[in-house]
This record gives sequence, C-alpha cells and structure tokens, in this order.
Amino acid sequence: MLQLSQVLLPVDHTDAALRQAALEVLKVKTDQLKHLHIKQRAIDARRGHVSFSYTLLAEVDDESRVLQQLDKTARVQVAEPEEYQLTRPAHGISDRPIIVGTGPCGLFCGLMLARAGWKPILLERGKAAGDRARDVTGFWNRGWAFNAESNVQFGEGGAGTFSDGKLYTQIRDREHRIPWLLKELVKAGAPEDIFIKARPHIGTDRLIKVVRHIREEIISLGGEVRFEAKVSDVVIEDGIMRGVVLADGSTIEGSRIIFGIGHSSRDTFEMLHRHGVPMERKPFSIGVRIEHPQKLIDTSLYGRWAGHERLGSAPYKFVAHCGTGRTAYSFCMCPGGLVVAANSEPGTVVTNGMSSYARAESNANAGFMVDVRPEDFVGDDVLAGIAMQRRLEKAAFDLAGGTYAAPAQLLGDFLAGKASTGPGKVQPSYKPGVVWTDLTTALPDYITETLHQAIPRIEKGLRGFALEDAVLTGFETRSSCPVRIPRDAETLECTGVKHFYPAGEGAGYAGGIISAAADGLRVAEAILRHA
Ligand SMILES: Cc1cc2nc3c(=O)[nH]c(=O)nc-3n(C[C@H](O)[C@H](O)[C@H](O)COP(=O)(O)OP(=O)(O)OC[C@H]3O[C@@H](n4cnc5c(N)ncnc54)[C@H](O)[C@@H]3O)c2cc1C
Repeated sequence: MLQLSQVLLPVDHTDAALRQAALEVLKVKTDQLKHLHIKQRAIDARRGHVSFSYTLLAEVDDESRVLQQLDKTARVQVAEPEEYQLTRPAHGISDRPIIVGTGPCGLFCGLMLARAGWKPILLERGKAAGDRARDVTGFWNRGWAFNAESNVQFGEGGAGTFSDGKLYTQIRDREHRIPWLLKELVKAGAPEDIFIKARPHIGTDRLIKVVRHIREEIISLGGEVRFEAKVSDVVIEDGIMRGVVLADGSTIEGSRIIFGIGHSSRDTFEMLHRHGVPMERKPFSIGVRIEHPQKLIDTSLYGRWAGHERLGSAPYKFVAHCGTGRTAYSFCMCPGGLVVAANSEPGTVVTNGMSSYARAESNANAGFMVDVRPEDFVGDDVLAGIAMQRRLEKAAFDLAGGTYAAPAQLLGDFLAGKASTGPGKVQPSYKPGVVWTDLTTALPDYITETLHQAIPRIEKGLRGFALEDAVLTGFETRSSCPVRIPRDAETLECTGVKHFYPAGEGAGYAGGIISAAADGLRVAEAILRHA
C-alpha cells in the first residue's frame, strides 16, 4: 500500500477528480490503481486560498516499480501499518483494579482492563450521563440550583461530555493508540467521519451516547461502574495505597488503584496532599472566552467558500507572543457553539465552550488565554495554583452579582478601558446569562495587558477578530491542572506511593479527550505488563 500526502483539490471537486489526482501523483494508468482510500482530509485555508489537502492510501499493481519511477520530490511512500498491539496480561487477575473517575482516562483504562478479563471497579462522584445532562441543562436553562457533584466537570464521561468533542491532539503516538481509540469511539456511536477529518469532533449530542456505550461494554465484561460514589479518602500504609474510602464511609481494598480524576477535583487533591502524596506545581493558563459571529470567522478564513456544506463552520487557532513576555493563545475553540458554565464549586463562575455535532449555533467561541507560571502564584504551597484559580472564579461570581450569571464585556470597551452596559451585534450565548461590567477590575494586570497586546497581532492573521462587538465572558481558569503527580517511568505508579496510578489530565499527563484516553490506555498497559 502506498501513501500519498498533500494531494490538493478544490473544495467542490468530484470523486473522479480525486482519483485523477492520485493517478497523476503516482504516474500510473487507471487500470493499475486497484484501490484508493482516503486516510485523512484537511482543510488548507492559508494564503487566501481554500482547498482540501488529502492523504491517500493507494493499492497499485507492481508497487516497487511505481515507487522507483517517481522522483524524490513526489510525496509518496510505503504506508506504515498503524496497528496498536494489545498488551497481554503478565498473569491472571489477583484482585480487581479500582478506577476513580469515568472521564476519557478512566473509561478507556477500564475498557482495556475489562477486555483483559480483570473486571475493574469504576467509581464516579457524579451521576450517569442522562441524569447528569438533566442537572446541567436545568442549571443553565431552567433556574435549577447548582449541583456541586453533578455538573460540567463531574459525572459520567468526565469534563469532555459537554464539549465540542474535538479529538485532535499533538501527542506523539508511536504505539498507534489514537487510531485504536477512534475505532472504539465509532463502535460506541461517534460519527465515522472522525476517521478521515484532520480535525475531527464528536459534539455533545453524540458524546453522551458514546460514553454510555463504553460503560455498558465494561459492565458486560464483568466490570462495575458506580455513580454518586465519591472517593473521599485513601488508605496508605508504609508507602503503599491499600484502598479507597467512599463518602458513605465504606472502604474498597485493592492493589491497583488508578486515579483519573481530572483537573477540577480540588477536594481530592487536598485529601491526597494531606496524605503526603508527592505533587509538583505546574503552569496553566487564565483568560476569557471570546465570541464572534460564526459567519464573520467563516468569511475571514474561507472567503468566497464561506458557508460551503463541505467545509462546515470554520475553526481557528492563534498564538501571539507579546511584549509582556507572555503568550496569548486560543484554547478549545468551538465553531458554531455555546459558551457554557463550567464551574464545579458553589459561589464560582467558570467559562468554557461546547458544540453539537452540527456546529450550527450562530456564534464561534474560544478561550482567549494567557500563560500563568508557578512564580505568579501567591505563596509556596503546592496547591497555590488551585487557590489562584479559585480566587478568580469567586471574583467572577461576585462581579456578576452572585447569581451564577457571568461577567461580560465588549471587546471594544475592554480595549478602551471602560465597563460595558449591554450587547452590540453579538448576543452572548452563556447561560444562565451575563452581567455587563469591566472584567479588568478582577483580572491580574499582566493578563489584561497581554490580551490587549495580542488583539492587533491576531487581527493580522484573522481579520475581524478585533470586532468591537465581540463578547468577552469571564473567566476561563480550567485550561489544565495546576499540579502534576510524579510517577515512575516504567510502572507508572506514583513515585513514593506504590499501587497508586495517577493518570490523565488531573495528574498532569494529558490535556484533552484523546490524550487523557491515551494515558488511560498507557496505565492499563503498564498494569497488565507488571502486575
Ligand atoms: C466544557 C469543556 C469542553 C471541553 N472541550 C474539549 C474538546 O473539545 N476537546 C478536548 O480534547 N478536550 C476538551 N475538554 C477537556 C477534556 O474534557 C479533558 O481534557 C478530559 O476530559 C480529561 O480527561 P480525564 O479523564 O483525565 O478527566 P475528566 O474528564 O475530568 O474526568 C475525571 C472524572 O473523575 C471524577 N472524579 C473526580 N474526583 C473523584 C473522586 N474523588 N471520586 C470519584 N470520582 C471522581 C469526575 O467526576 C470526572 O467525571 C473540555 C473540557 C470542558 C470542561
């Protein structure tokens, strides 16, 4: 099989044109090309032109002769097999692994261990996806009280259940875990186009079904998934984790305890810290969510092709290195999406974004973030980064009048240094609503200054970004976890606490759905290899 890279075609090309382009790249006659398969399709929207850039797999007669005839500049090579080698357990099960958290990390770790016959017990502080969805949408849209155990951060599927479900990541994947994960996601109900899109996404509407399917498979293999089962304590003796204690006082003992708790389970980090579990401070980012009309973004990036059904709503990405010595960047951009309340503690406001599969809402939104370093934290405490997030989240709540509305400001007013009094042409999508104010009164000066400096820089590459009516909603604080729990490079146990496997985003080894799921697999593999 040969792999052809960067085969460019116009947006409205036909299937015949794709085949013709492959024949030309390969310099073969049509009857020599036995089979042509799309491996990946990216949208190339640089330098004012929009086209599709394909990676193709071709089966041809006499492959080595075809390759020899091509000159070295041709982007053709023998396709590498991308097979994920499943780890065989070193021996049979002795006791059941305990997995804390059913985010992508916990779920895929659980699925792998369940398929190996190890019947894992998954413990989740939040509710099952359906009940959780009722709590979350009730809080956003129907005035229901905020539920500190069932929200956008906590519950089946973890933090990514109410998201755009973007599945791209920059992690290295020599073991081919990612293609395997995509296959499992499709088996569980994700759209098949995630196989070929260079920037695949699932959307909240489908994610809820996907996580439910994975749970059902774990249970069908003898595993157990317990909801509203918060781990409130652990048993550690002589540097060995022996078990976990649930909020109802019951203890579950085990000799392989995986914590895939995400970045928001602050009470759990505090509990682990009290037990002397080693942790390190880690940089993260703080910012605001910015909303533009999606049509403006589409036109800016796709020009005359804006709105073409093959392109869908345009995503964007930017990085701006500023004179403050800091970097502003886009985070978790959601085309055709909504800004959502993503807090997990009462009396706080946190923003993030989500989309459905169709990405059909009228606004585009993205985190507009600035890097924050451990030296910015107040005090030497290892949890000082969490304290900083919490202060800002409480400030956002107070700034908007203490009702769970979010503080918001127009970009033009933000630049002019004045409070906003109402929306312009862009209606904010945040629910339960926004209060117009001056965000800079609560933001650290270096964040405000970096955002200010970044705006004209971003405008150069993304025309319309500096729109005066663009809405800024505050604050975005949960970009990643402010701590890392160190682990042994080989066994992946926490250094200093045996039988304890910190994993995923909360432990500092992932930043997104796919990287967290891949880390869950990595931990399952290590357990199966060494246990
Ligand atoms: C609104 C939003 C949108 C996002 N959009 C995207 C996106 O489009 N693409 C992307 O790649 N990433 C996105 N992310 C980030 C992504 O969701 C996370 O990186 C990912 O979910 C991390 O996976 P995880 O399994 O490590 O942790 P989590 O998904 O956070 O899961 C941790 C789970 O552990 C449970 N838990 C915590 N403590 C305990 C305890 N003590 N006892 C029992 N259970 C516990 C929690 O309830 C939670 O369900 C988004 C995040 C949010 C909040």
